[in-house]
Amino acid sequence: MAQEKEKAQAEKEKKAKHFKQEKEHKKPKHMELHEYATATLGAGNMREAVRLPKGEDFNEWLAVNTVDFFNEISLLYGIVTEYCTKDSCPVMSAGPKYEYLWMDGVKVKKPIKVSAPEYIDYLMSWIEEQINDSNVFPTDDGVNFPKNFKQVCKTILKRLFRVYGHIYHSHMQKMVALDAEAHLNTCFKHFVYFVKEFKLVDERELAPLGDTIQHMLKKDAEKQGAKYKPKYNY
Ligand SMILES: [Zn+2]
Repeated sequence: MAQEKEKAQAEKEKKAKHFKQEKEHKKPKHMELHEYATATLGAGNMREAVRLPKGEDFNEWLAVNTVDFFNEISLLYGIVTEYCTKDSCPVMSAGPKYEYLWMDGVKVKKPIKVSAPEYIDYLMSWIEEQINDSNVFPTDDGVNFPKNFKQVCKTILKRLFRVYGHIYHSHMQKMVALDAEAHLNTCFKHFVYFVKEFKLVDERELAPLGDTIQHMLKKDAEKQGAKYKPKYNY
């Protein structure tokens, strides 16, 4: 009983930390795919877990994963949001070489220089609007995805990556101190495998975390190798 109470409290705290409200999967199909994805991820092989499940529609898979990535980043950024201020992060950057200006082409037509927290708020609000728009993310069975659905998701994922870039470059110490590093790495690895599997984010966009990605993939390959190769060569 006490344990259950503790668990409920932990869940509550986790929810409270979301930067934006968690998006739910409204379509039964999406819930089913979400559960499938969670289960295969739990099984450990991420490269396998991101693949399109047999017989499923790519757009449905893309929709579910995009929403899940939004929720993951929202939770991760929620952890450091109080430390990411106009003073600590006056520009939106992913390391010294990469700075981002905000523009969505609709509300903000010319690129504007804003602080990281403002940029991330613009970015996450923009994604929220896309996800909430049933013309973009259909919620009823039998309603087709718009023709530009993949393109919209590519833009969402490209922008979500920037939040990872900012967290890794500017708030890593805090993530370590708050014991959230392992969760950050797992979420990011999932994201990388997914966008690489379906070529959804250009390599040059991923460059700010190029070293982290290389290191991660190498470590994974070694792990796989160690599994299949004999332990000793003699
Ligand atoms: Zn920041």
